[in-house]
Amino acid sequence: MDTKRLYEISQKHMWLPFTQMKDYEEAPLIIESGEGIRLKDIHGNEYLDGYSSLWLNVHGHRRQEIDEAIKAQLEKIAHSTLLGAANVPSIELAEKLIELSPERLMRVFYSDSGAESVEIAIKMAYQYWQNKGETEKKKFVTLSNGYHGDTVGAISVGSIDIYHRVYSALMFDSYAVPFPSGDGKSSLTAMRTLFEEKHEQLAGLIVESMIQGAGGMHIMPPGYLKELERLCQEFHILLIVDEVATGFGRTGKMFAVEHEGVSPDIMTVAKGITGGYLPIAATLTTEEIYEAFYADFTEMKTFFHGHSYTGNQLGCAAALANLAIFEKEGLVEQAARKAEYIQTILAELKELPHVGEIRQLGLMCGIDIVKDKETNEPFPFEERAAYRATLRMRELGMLTRPLGDVIVFMPPLAATYEELTKMGQIMKQAIKDIQLVTK
Ligand SMILES: *Cc1c(COP(=O)(O)O)cnc(C)c1O
Repeated sequence: MDTKRLYEISQKHMWLPFTQMKDYEEAPLIIESGEGIRLKDIHGNEYLDGYSSLWLNVHGHRRQEIDEAIKAQLEKIAHSTLLGAANVPSIELAEKLIELSPERLMRVFYSDSGAESVEIAIKMAYQYWQNKGETEKKKFVTLSNGYHGDTVGAISVGSIDIYHRVYSALMFDSYAVPFPSGDGKSSLTAMRTLFEEKHEQLAGLIVESMIQGAGGMHIMPPGYLKELERLCQEFHILLIVDEVATGFGRTGKMFAVEHEGVSPDIMTVAKGITGGYLPIAATLTTEEIYEAFYADFTEMKTFFHGHSYTGNQLGCAAALANLAIFEKEGLVEQAARKAEYIQTILAELKELPHVGEIRQLGLMCGIDIVKDKETNEPFPFEERAAYRATLRMRELGMLTRPLGDVIVFMPPLAATYEELTKMGQIMKQAIKDIQLVTK
């Protein structure tokens, strides 16, 4: 198809996720290929992938080992169902995931996206208590500003008002405790008070691991997640930790729970699991939870949940190849060192007139764009300053997507120091240019 027709058809028939299509029409972008951490559009323009193709990509695009693992798997079979039957790469991947994850996690339940892994976590936690005869434990607790995906269950335990308000009548009720500020003491006190009052009705607490991503890159203070783990144990509430964004080296540890030595009852993983290649997700849980479902069929304790493509062989093969590269290259340690280097890039941005607070955990960074640096006054909503800055970055050769007035910098773990420096320069220029496009 020629480029003109690609534009026409994309505007006539496509409806892109999380996108106001009016924006897309004004600034369309069609990607044709990728190599390393660069993406190329249909005109041959190249862009550094500053958001890891929405927080997924790890080793860059077209990484030979993963390409070859998929081709080799294709010689055997592309997909067979996991309903009632396992398959070879899904077993091998389960062993690997259990080896890498916190000690108590022993069982892997596959799905195809982060939101599904969260739906599964919620239904698993809910039914766990039902199966154990504690039938009053039905409600979930979340943190304000939390994000766990876009399906109805996932938004019911999410708490980002602008995304979720319109669907409020569809959602089930959850309790939202304020995300910690400062040392986190007041949030912990609120959590304890809620647990004391309601623990008999509470099935689980779900939190993003160490850093809230879509909520704007907010980081938990030291000791906070550990204390949540302790509170959950004290009040018999399952701790569900969402590692969809943070898993697989993103924060400088294989999983972000390792920053606090936390071992949750249920952990969800997705995004980085296949290096950004194919849709695989998983919900990991303990033997204790698994055993509450294990019974004669007639007891009706079966976990009645599954998706058609669950445990897809091509995806599992990609995930295995992805994780093998982690080991071969010591990628998690490398990411931790790159995170230190990124601090110097961010320190330079901090000097710019329209940059407010900057938050970073590993290779997850949020840069607040403000109108007035002294008072932290934001730009008017209509000006969409951060969005415009990212469009300017695109002109300068880098892609990312803002979260409101927060610019996201989330490069692939494999980005070289030179590429990180280049992206830093582009962000700096684009943020400087905000002055030109706003009043
Ligand atoms: C992206 C994300 C999800 C949703 O994952 P999808 O694969 O987009 O459904 C869930 N939780 C967190 C923390 C995320 O960042």
